[in-house]
Amino acid sequence: MTSSLNTPHMPLLQVKNLKTYFPVKKGLLGREVARVHAVDDVSFTLNAGETLGLVGESGCGKSTLGRSLIQLDRPTSGEVFFEGQKINDLDFASLKKVRAGLQMIFQDPFSSLDPRMSVERIISEPLRLHRIGDKKSQGAIVKDLLKKVGLPESALNRYPHEFSGGQRQRIGIARSLALRPKLIIADEPVAALDVSVQAQVLNLLGDLKKEFGLTMVFISHDLGVIKYFCDRIAVMYLGKIVEYAGSDDLYKNQIHPYTRALFSAIPLPDPTAKLERIILKGDVPSPIHPPSGCRFHTRCPFVTDICKTAVPDLVEVKPGHFAACHHKDQFLNQKGAPT
Ligand code: SF4
Repeated sequence: MTSSLNTPHMPLLQVKNLKTYFPVKKGLLGREVARVHAVDDVSFTLNAGETLGLVGESGCGKSTLGRSLIQLDRPTSGEVFFEGQKINDLDFASLKKVRAGLQMIFQDPFSSLDPRMSVERIISEPLRLHRIGDKKSQGAIVKDLLKKVGLPESALNRYPHEFSGGQRQRIGIARSLALRPKLIIADEPVAALDVSVQAQVLNLLGDLKKEFGLTMVFISHDLGVIKYFCDRIAVMYLGKIVEYAGSDDLYKNQIHPYTRALFSAIPLPDPTAKLERIILKGDVPSPIHPPSGCRFHTRCPFVTDICKTAVPDLVEVKPGHFAACHHKDQFLNQKGAPT
């Protein structure tokens, strides 16, 4: 992404040319034979109090990007700055201190909670690990967090399997807030929940975001959820950000053909409205051998020769709206998919 995306004041999170590759190993000696290009040259900034939505199909790299921001997956190259401090080359002890300010909410609340620990121990664990307060003050914090996520005090001595999916996600959210983080990475936080409880958990996250003054990276494949929740949206395809814009702007005018295809798949509230669905040809190519030039060229209905050889830069096409497409002018100010 071009440097014009950088904001004049110091952002809470700044990501520069981030790449996270995973080795593909073969043979008895585990020789590296290839690399999965999960995140490939991603840059963006996020100001305090904002929520950035990361969208794209499964395997586009959005979850790896989230994990790389918090250093659960260590990036191959590039830089991640949190509150101005570069965090991607910190040693374990220094990273542990920084992590107090950066927390993650996972998709599957069951596998992310230790089934052998009581709710009290699960929520207080970050406080113990960071040696914050004594047992009494930790207990008070845990009770307060339980209340904030809408669970009764009687939950304290129970175990994860005794709760529903929505309640388990509430426990996970309480745990992620224990250290009063500034930035939360929420990775598909409602995708594993029944539709009936998704709205409850989203409302809870919205309320907590206001109350705690949280900044968020919200990862989802659900554009309805993203619209409800995010100030800005980054659309990812095969490890790269292909479009980046304010939420309202993007819902009115999608510029990149991939974004247009994604948005055309959103069900319309009016069943009589005519939907021009853009069906993409073929499967998502392998991130081990991503296509040359524009990574979307093997599926794009507008592909031309230049798309197959030259990588399009992510450039600002109108204030705050960036797209990576050689033919972006063709789609500028065209009405996007109806939403
Ligand atoms: Fe399609 Fe070419 Fe634009 Fe890529 S650069 S999205 S292939 S028109």
